[in-house]
Amino acid sequence: MRGKLVYPYSNALLEYEFRRDHPLKPDRLKLTYLLSQQLGLLDKVKELKPAFASREELELFHSSEFINAVVDSGTNNNAYPHYGLGTADNPIFPQIHETGARYVGATLDAIRAIMDGASNAFCISGGLHHAHKNAASGFCIYNDIVIAIKMLHKKQNSKVLYFDFDAHHGDGVQNAFYRSKDVLTISVHQTGQTLFPGTGFIYETGAAEGIGYSVNVPLIPGAGTPELLRVFDDVVVPLFESFKPDLLVTQMGVDGHYLDPLAHLTYTSHGYETVVGKLREISTEICKLGWLAVGGGGYHPVNVARLWTLFLAVMLDEDIPNKMPDEFRETCNEMGYKDIPEFMRDKNEVVQMYFSREDIVLDLERALRRVKELVFPYHGL
Ligand SMILES: [Zn+2]
Repeated sequence: MRGKLVYPYSNALLEYEFRRDHPLKPDRLKLTYLLSQQLGLLDKVKELKPAFASREELELFHSSEFINAVVDSGTNNNAYPHYGLGTADNPIFPQIHETGARYVGATLDAIRAIMDGASNAFCISGGLHHAHKNAASGFCIYNDIVIAIKMLHKKQNSKVLYFDFDAHHGDGVQNAFYRSKDVLTISVHQTGQTLFPGTGFIYETGAAEGIGYSVNVPLIPGAGTPELLRVFDDVVVPLFESFKPDLLVTQMGVDGHYLDPLAHLTYTSHGYETVVGKLREISTEICKLGWLAVGGGGYHPVNVARLWTLFLAVMLDEDIPNKMPDEFRETCNEMGYKDIPEFMRDKNEVVQMYFSREDIVLDLERALRRVKELVFPYHGL
């Protein structure tokens, strides 16, 4: 019998704030925690207070020179644009190193708990998938996901399936394991032709012995729940079943939701709920070590809270009422948020925006055919 779901959280995580007007707002985490608590879900988890990742742990992935630059930028207010520090996306702030190291610490606490027998973990602060070995990128300073997988590999050989459904390509994680066949990365995202970081094309399939172990499904603007479900059934499930990972890692950014202000996909709660439910089933059946889920993007804080709370309920296999608690809606109101959803789930499954449904379906058909041609033969499919 494996242990409870682990949930690393503390108010200290709210100090990761680039600037007051930056889209990555600490309210995303604060409101998620509050809503999950009000719905009684946190009574079912094991909470952990995250510690800082050590320098040695950060160096499992990042270069010493880059870490020195992060420390110096926070201490002496020096910008290092060649390390992605002090840019429009990643402005520097006094505690940039410490708060970045605490985010990594939270995800490391989660992976350690899983190695010690927890069934799964949801680390809402984690998911900084754009950070590179030598550079901060796209609001991400240190890459908690890569460091957690590397820590696992330091302790034991194991196969990891990384599935990323954030609206943006999971470039930092893909690149870190591009030559490895121990980590199969699958990213479904808005095409790099129209969205940061401009990568994640189908032909990025890995290198050296890792060819066939980097999988990308780019979607055109307007793609939504039907496309997410199709990609899941046609690409993720067959690869999952043939690869048979010991651990599932998911980056669950919700900036692909139709209400999100930064991207142009149209996922709805229905699509997310179905996918998270299927991930629970398939990981329970296949993954000996369990499932490490982390957060990621999502820039409408109330909506992020709603969706990540829904994900937690699905991970725990708990029913929750569809009505958003009045107490929670009042708090959001007092914090100045407008257009607060009344229900935990969206009314419609399909939302029509940007391209026509016909164009979206046609584009997806082509993408799936190409992915299957380029990747599936490496997996005996
Ligand atoms: Zn994103």
